[in-house]
Amino acid sequence: MAASWAVKYICRAKQACTEFTGSSTWLTSAKYYIKDNYKLMRGSRDKIRWNMFVWNRFSMPKHRIICWLALQDRLKTKARLFPLGIGVDNLCGLCGSHPEIGAHLFFECKYSIDCCTAIMHWLGFRTYRSSLISLFQWVRRYCTSGFKRKVTYAVITGVVYFIWKARNSSIWKGSVPTVKHTVQHIQFCVKNRVSKLIGKKISTSEAHWFASL
Ligand SMILES: [Zn+2]
Repeated sequence: MAASWAVKYICRAKQACTEFTGSSTWLTSAKYYIKDNYKLMRGSRDKIRWNMFVWNRFSMPKHRIICWLALQDRLKTKARLFPLGIGVDNLCGLCGSHPEIGAHLFFECKYSIDCCTAIMHWLGFRTYRSSLISLFQWVRRYCTSGFKRKVTYAVITGVVYFIWKARNSSIWKGSVPTVKHTVQHIQFCVKNRVSKLIGKKISTSEAHWFASL
Protein backbone atom coordinates (compact mmCIF):
# COMPACT_ATOMS: atom_id res chain seq x y z
CA MET A 1 0.00 0.00 0.00
CA ALA A 2 2.93 2.34 0.68
CA ALA A 3 4.48 1.77 -2.75
CA SER A 4 4.71 4.61 -5.23
CA TRP A 5 2.19 5.00 -8.04
CA ALA A 6 4.80 3.73 -10.49
CA VAL A 7 5.30 0.44 -8.62
CA LYS A 8 1.55 0.02 -8.30
CA TYR A 9 1.20 0.62 -12.03
CA ILE A 10 3.82 -2.04 -12.80
CA CYS A 11 2.04 -4.51 -10.49
CA ARG A 12 -1.23 -3.85 -12.26
CA ALA A 13 0.45 -4.36 -15.64
CA LYS A 14 1.96 -7.68 -14.43
CA GLN A 15 -1.45 -8.80 -13.22
CA ALA A 16 -3.11 -7.79 -16.50
CA CYS A 17 -0.45 -9.63 -18.53
CA THR A 18 -0.85 -12.80 -16.49
CA GLU A 19 -4.64 -12.71 -16.78
CA PHE A 20 -4.51 -11.98 -20.49
CA THR A 21 -2.08 -14.79 -21.32
CA GLY A 22 -3.69 -17.17 -18.79
CA SER A 23 -0.32 -18.11 -17.32
CA SER A 24 2.42 -16.68 -15.14
CA THR A 25 5.25 -18.58 -16.83
CA TRP A 26 6.40 -15.39 -18.52
CA LEU A 27 7.35 -14.10 -15.05
CA THR A 28 9.55 -17.05 -14.18
CA SER A 29 11.18 -18.00 -17.50
CA ALA A 30 14.96 -17.66 -17.60
CA LYS A 31 14.88 -15.17 -20.45
CA TYR A 32 12.22 -12.57 -21.06
CA TYR A 33 11.65 -10.78 -24.31
CA ILE A 34 9.11 -7.99 -24.65
CA LYS A 35 8.68 -9.07 -28.28
CA ASP A 36 7.48 -12.55 -27.27
CA ASN A 37 4.94 -11.23 -24.80
CA TYR A 38 3.74 -8.67 -27.33
CA LYS A 39 3.16 -11.44 -29.89
CA LEU A 40 1.41 -13.57 -27.26
CA MET A 41 -0.96 -10.77 -26.31
CA ARG A 42 -1.58 -9.70 -29.89
CA GLY A 43 -2.49 -13.23 -30.98
CA SER A 44 -1.90 -14.65 -34.43
CA ARG A 45 -3.35 -12.91 -37.44
CA ASP A 46 -3.16 -13.41 -41.15
CA LYS A 47 -0.63 -11.13 -42.70
CA ILE A 48 -2.31 -8.83 -45.18
CA ARG A 49 -0.14 -7.89 -48.12
CA TRP A 50 -1.52 -4.44 -48.88
CA ASN A 51 1.44 -3.38 -50.96
CA MET A 52 0.87 -5.59 -53.98
CA PHE A 53 -2.71 -4.34 -54.27
CA VAL A 54 -1.80 -0.68 -54.32
CA TRP A 55 1.81 -0.25 -55.43
CA ASN A 56 1.11 -1.51 -58.90
CA ARG A 57 2.61 0.37 -61.86
CA PHE A 58 -0.66 0.25 -63.79
CA SER A 59 -2.26 2.44 -61.10
CA MET A 60 -1.76 6.19 -61.29
CA PRO A 61 0.35 7.53 -58.40
CA LYS A 62 -2.38 9.86 -57.10
CA HIS A 63 -4.86 6.95 -57.20
CA ARG A 64 -2.44 4.81 -55.20
CA ILE A 65 -2.13 7.37 -52.41
CA ILE A 66 -5.90 7.70 -51.90
CA CYS A 67 -6.39 3.93 -52.10
CA TRP A 68 -3.55 3.34 -49.63
CA LEU A 69 -5.23 5.69 -47.15
CA ALA A 70 -8.66 4.14 -47.78
CA LEU A 71 -7.32 0.62 -47.18
CA GLN A 72 -6.05 1.71 -43.79
CA ASP A 73 -9.21 3.72 -43.09
CA ARG A 74 -7.20 6.91 -42.72
CA LEU A 75 -9.08 9.23 -45.07
CA LYS A 76 -10.45 12.34 -43.39
CA THR A 77 -14.12 11.47 -43.69
CA LYS A 78 -16.82 13.71 -42.23
CA ALA A 79 -17.64 11.17 -39.53
CA ARG A 80 -14.03 11.48 -38.41
CA LEU A 81 -13.80 15.27 -38.63
CA PHE A 82 -17.17 16.20 -37.13
CA PRO A 83 -16.37 15.04 -33.56
CA LEU A 84 -13.29 17.29 -33.75
CA GLY A 85 -15.51 20.29 -34.42
CA ILE A 86 -14.81 20.40 -38.17
CA GLY A 87 -17.78 20.66 -40.53
CA VAL A 88 -21.49 21.15 -39.98
CA ASP A 89 -22.51 17.48 -39.92
CA ASN A 90 -21.12 13.95 -40.28
CA LEU A 91 -23.30 12.92 -43.20
CA CYS A 92 -22.08 11.34 -46.42
CA GLY A 93 -21.06 13.93 -49.00
CA LEU A 94 -22.65 11.88 -51.78
CA CYS A 95 -26.06 10.81 -50.43
CA GLY A 96 -26.37 12.97 -47.30
CA SER A 97 -28.32 10.30 -45.44
CA HIS A 98 -25.75 8.17 -43.62
CA PRO A 99 -22.69 8.90 -41.48
CA GLU A 100 -19.71 9.28 -43.76
CA ILE A 101 -17.44 6.43 -42.73
CA GLY A 102 -15.16 4.61 -45.19
CA ALA A 103 -17.32 1.47 -45.31
CA HIS A 104 -20.40 3.51 -46.27
CA LEU A 105 -18.66 5.86 -48.68
CA PHE A 106 -17.04 3.12 -50.78
CA PHE A 107 -19.39 0.15 -50.39
CA GLU A 108 -22.83 1.13 -49.10
CA CYS A 109 -23.60 4.47 -50.72
CA LYS A 110 -25.84 4.11 -53.77
CA TYR A 111 -23.47 6.22 -55.88
CA SER A 112 -20.53 3.94 -55.07
CA ILE A 113 -22.53 0.74 -55.55
CA ASP A 114 -23.64 1.95 -58.99
CA CYS A 115 -20.06 2.89 -59.94
CA CYS A 116 -18.62 -0.42 -58.70
CA THR A 117 -21.33 -2.47 -60.38
CA ALA A 118 -20.85 -0.72 -63.73
CA ILE A 119 -17.07 -1.06 -63.55
CA MET A 120 -17.16 -4.75 -62.56
CA HIS A 121 -19.56 -5.45 -65.43
CA TRP A 122 -17.18 -3.63 -67.76
CA LEU A 123 -14.40 -5.99 -66.66
CA GLY A 124 -16.69 -8.98 -67.10
CA PHE A 125 -17.05 -9.76 -63.39
CA ARG A 126 -20.21 -10.45 -61.43
CA THR A 127 -19.21 -10.10 -57.82
CA TYR A 128 -19.92 -7.95 -54.83
CA ARG A 129 -17.68 -7.50 -51.83
CA SER A 130 -18.36 -5.36 -48.79
CA SER A 131 -14.84 -4.10 -48.16
CA LEU A 132 -11.85 -2.96 -50.14
CA ILE A 133 -9.52 -5.59 -48.77
CA SER A 134 -11.94 -8.44 -49.47
CA LEU A 135 -12.44 -7.13 -53.02
CA PHE A 136 -8.69 -7.03 -53.63
CA GLN A 137 -8.30 -10.50 -52.11
CA TRP A 138 -11.07 -11.83 -54.34
CA VAL A 139 -9.31 -10.42 -57.41
CA ARG A 140 -6.03 -12.01 -56.32
CA ARG A 141 -7.72 -15.42 -56.08
CA TYR A 142 -10.01 -15.11 -59.09
CA CYS A 143 -7.67 -13.61 -61.69
CA THR A 144 -5.14 -16.25 -62.59
CA SER A 145 -3.57 -14.05 -65.25
CA GLY A 146 -1.04 -11.63 -63.73
CA PHE A 147 -1.78 -8.97 -66.34
CA LYS A 148 -5.54 -9.14 -65.83
CA ARG A 149 -5.04 -9.04 -62.07
CA LYS A 150 -2.88 -5.92 -62.23
CA VAL A 151 -5.30 -4.15 -64.55
CA THR A 152 -8.16 -4.99 -62.17
CA TYR A 153 -6.15 -3.69 -59.19
CA ALA A 154 -5.60 -0.46 -61.14
CA VAL A 155 -9.32 -0.21 -61.89
CA ILE A 156 -10.30 -0.69 -58.23
CA THR A 157 -7.70 1.87 -57.18
CA GLY A 158 -9.20 4.24 -59.75
CA VAL A 159 -12.73 3.62 -58.43
CA VAL A 160 -11.64 4.55 -54.90
CA TYR A 161 -9.93 7.71 -56.15
CA PHE A 162 -12.88 8.88 -58.26
CA ILE A 163 -15.46 8.18 -55.55
CA TRP A 164 -13.34 10.22 -53.14
CA LYS A 165 -13.04 12.93 -55.82
CA ALA A 166 -16.83 12.94 -56.39
CA ARG A 167 -17.35 13.27 -52.62
CA ASN A 168 -14.90 16.19 -52.51
CA SER A 169 -16.63 17.83 -55.46
CA SER A 170 -19.97 17.54 -53.65
CA ILE A 171 -18.60 19.16 -50.50
CA TRP A 172 -16.45 21.90 -52.02
CA LYS A 173 -18.22 22.64 -55.32
CA GLY A 174 -21.77 21.54 -54.52
CA SER A 175 -21.96 19.22 -57.52
CA VAL A 176 -21.59 15.47 -57.99
CA PRO A 177 -20.59 14.04 -61.37
CA THR A 178 -22.98 11.46 -62.78
CA VAL A 179 -22.18 7.79 -62.30
CA LYS A 180 -21.79 7.46 -66.07
CA HIS A 181 -19.25 10.31 -66.14
CA THR A 182 -17.24 8.83 -63.26
CA VAL A 183 -17.24 5.35 -64.79
CA GLN A 184 -16.08 6.72 -68.16
CA HIS A 185 -13.31 8.67 -66.44
CA ILE A 186 -12.06 5.55 -64.63
CA GLN A 187 -12.15 3.54 -67.85
CA PHE A 188 -10.25 6.23 -69.75
CA CYS A 189 -7.58 6.65 -67.06
CA VAL A 190 -6.85 2.94 -66.74
CA LYS A 191 -6.90 2.19 -70.46
CA ASN A 192 -4.70 5.17 -71.23
CA ARG A 193 -2.09 4.33 -68.59
CA VAL A 194 -2.00 0.58 -69.20
CA SER A 195 -1.72 1.14 -72.98
CA LYS A 196 1.43 3.18 -72.39
CA LEU A 197 3.00 0.70 -69.96
CA ILE A 198 1.89 -2.54 -71.51
CA GLY A 199 4.78 -4.93 -72.10
CA LYS A 200 5.38 -7.39 -74.90
CA LYS A 201 5.13 -10.33 -72.52
CA ILE A 202 1.36 -10.53 -72.35
CA SER A 203 -0.34 -13.42 -74.09
CA THR A 204 -2.65 -13.14 -77.07
CA SER A 205 -5.70 -13.84 -74.90
CA GLU A 206 -4.65 -11.12 -72.43
CA ALA A 207 -4.11 -8.64 -75.28
CA HIS A 208 -7.49 -9.58 -76.72
CA TRP A 209 -9.19 -9.14 -73.32
CA PHE A 210 -7.61 -5.71 -72.85
CA ALA A 211 -8.50 -4.60 -76.38
CA SER A 212 -12.13 -5.61 -75.75
CA LEU A 213 -12.44 -3.25 -72.78
ZN1 LIG B 1 -23.68 7.95 -49.01
